[in-house]
Amino acid sequence: MSRPSIAVVGGGVIGLSTALALADRGVCVTVFEPGDAGAQSSWAGAGILFPLLPWDYDDAVNRWCEAGIAAHPAWLQRLQRDSGIDPEHRASGMRIVGGAKGRALEWLANRRVAHQSLANGDLLLPEVTQVRNPRLIRALLASCQRAGVLVRERCPAAALTDDGERVTGVRLAEGELAFDAVVVAAGAWSARLARLAEDRVWPVRGQMLAVQADPIAPTIVYEDGRYLVPRSDGVVLIGSTLETVGFDVGTTAEAKTALLNWATAVEPALAHAPLIRHWAGLRPGSVANHPLVGPHPDWPGLWLNCGHFRYGLTMAPACAHELAELLLAAHEHAYKS
Ligand SMILES: Cc1cc2nc3c(=O)[nH]c(=O)nc-3n(C[C@H](O)[C@H](O)[C@H](O)COP(=O)(O)OP(=O)(O)OC[C@H]3O[C@@H](n4cnc5c(N)ncnc54)[C@H](O)[C@@H]3O)c2cc1C
Repeated sequence: MSRPSIAVVGGGVIGLSTALALADRGVCVTVFEPGDAGAQSSWAGAGILFPLLPWDYDDAVNRWCEAGIAAHPAWLQRLQRDSGIDPEHRASGMRIVGGAKGRALEWLANRRVAHQSLANGDLLLPEVTQVRNPRLIRALLASCQRAGVLVRERCPAAALTDDGERVTGVRLAEGELAFDAVVVAAGAWSARLARLAEDRVWPVRGQMLAVQADPIAPTIVYEDGRYLVPRSDGVVLIGSTLETVGFDVGTTAEAKTALLNWATAVEPALAHAPLIRHWAGLRPGSVANHPLVGPHPDWPGLWLNCGHFRYGLTMAPACAHELAELLLAAHEHAYKS
């Protein structure tokens, strides 16, 4: 059987993990990315490997997250082996404070998720892990290159090409390139590229702060959508906002004040921690937070891996595996028939 050639549009955690899964199966893969690989949402995220509020989601979202969480240890070890970069995957646990505890306890009652009620009334999920996502991205990029993926940075796909019946490749500034299949994994930018309505995938801005603290407990703290994520070197991330402001990645003074006030209320030791950075990223929002993973419903040759909203870092290895399996099975079937 011929070795298929596949274009992946988007070089974030989803595009790169998809490219790696395809390359591992013998596919010839090219990734197209307008900027630096992994510099958008995948860099901006907090790196918590857990569906922050699983009690508010349906089973489909939680199943993708569970599959991602199960795949992460071996996947991250492989990335570290390939790249020599430690993505700092560790079980820091997550302490839930405030109003979410009641719903969390109800949800936990029927599930085998380790948890403990603490003396102060907080709830601890000791097995929740985190990863340092900027390092994960660097390791993943190195792994892709080692596996033979061609990653073309500063090379946006302007559009996809088709012959009226199926998608045939990508249009670049330099001209058109043909591929056996195209996977759109362009995060918040996916809808237009993937020939989807704009209400299928859209940008949801999240602002985040980083402060340099004296050592505090390594545990993630979560309260009603906001969280603290302590890294191993004293950097603490404070997140985040959920804003529908189109493709604007600016930051606001209001969000900074609100996040700092919340953080110092839950962890007074942060009151004098210097602010290192304030940034924003665009999550790929999707209907019911369901990622789109599989063939496009109307365009043969076009595949989707997008719309992972708040959990793309968590879901990445599972969605990449699924997409690669489905795409290769379809290619094999087409070859035999
Ligand atoms: C503040 C914040 C906190 C988060 N925290 C967490 C967390 O704790 N845990 C978790 O699991 N998830 C978290 N997320 C969500 C997670 O970061 C995203 O779901 C994930 O990064 C999506 O990955 P992606 O590759 O689809 O998107 P991106 O990383 O945005 O990658 C998409 C890529 O497509 C590229 N692109 C755009 N246009 C084109 C084009 N024309 N041609 C080619 N490429 C194109 C972009 O440049 C970009 O690099 C967080 C997100 C934010 C913003």
